[in-house]
Amino acid sequence: MLKDKVAVITGSVRGIGRAIAMCFAKQGANVVINYSSEKRKEEADQVVTEIKALGGKAIALCANVANSEEAKGLIEGTIAAFGKIDILVNNAGITKDMLLLRMTEKEFQEVLDVNLKGVFNCSKHGAKAMMKTGGSIINMTSVVGINGNAGQSNYAASKAGVIGFTKSVAKEFAGKNIRVNAIAPGFITTDMTDILPERVKESVMTSIPMKCFGVSEEIANVAVFLASDLSSYITGEVIKVDGGMAM
Ligand code: NAP
Repeated sequence: MLKDKVAVITGSVRGIGRAIAMCFAKQGANVVINYSSEKRKEEADQVVTEIKALGGKAIALCANVANSEEAKGLIEGTIAAFGKIDILVNNAGITKDMLLLRMTEKEFQEVLDVNLKGVFNCSKHGAKAMMKTGGSIINMTSVVGINGNAGQSNYAASKAGVIGFTKSVAKEFAGKNIRVNAIAPGFITTDMTDILPERVKESVMTSIPMKCFGVSEEIANVAVFLASDLSSYITGEVIKVDGGMAM
């Protein structure tokens, strides 16, 4: 479904990003794996090796998406390696959970910098590179950005911001054949959610009608749909993948 497409997936060394990279490669895309600092290089190279073993093409590029110059370098590095960019998945994200009265300005700012400014940085340079050919931008938001969550005001604000950003940019680029959509996962089993205490996980489980947590591949399948021509008439949309959590 993505044969010969060039895809950049931010934060793709582990978790949801890694699953998206593997799924895209299986669908024939040339994939750029992104990691945030040199200490992750070995893991990034491992993902590249796995994709090549499947017969796909991949490279790994280091860039902190919160840094505008590094985000620009990620897009330029992609064009240098593959000559174009068709798909950008803004997946990189962090949490720094704390109740508002105890949250520091640093905790608020860092989450906004990666989760929202990172999406701006990569989209700005990515969309510019897609202007002639068209493309698909997929932003990772969260059901927390729709419903809010106690202890996550920084994260919820960043993810709600991603939804507004997605719809605005979708309107700006609809005439250029660049579609911009978002995926809002519920609770997906990854490093991000593994660190939560058991009692929090049990409490979240009671709010999921399907009575199970999601896995990264269930998000990746929707990303393949949004990246491919199967979704050719969809832009500015937010698709929840949450077992009914935010119904
Ligand atoms: P994860 O396992 O913690 O992985 C996060 C990824 O983001 C890592 O690959 C990390 O790379 C990367 N990253 C963090 N800061 C970065 C930066 N400044 N520049 C580039 N990459 C950076 O998280 P996940 O669960 O897969 O989450 C992926 C996305 O889905 C996030 O946007 C998250 O908010 C969203 N989401 C997740 C859930 C869930 O339940 N898991 C629910 C809703 C939304 P390094 O290792 O190199 O730092």
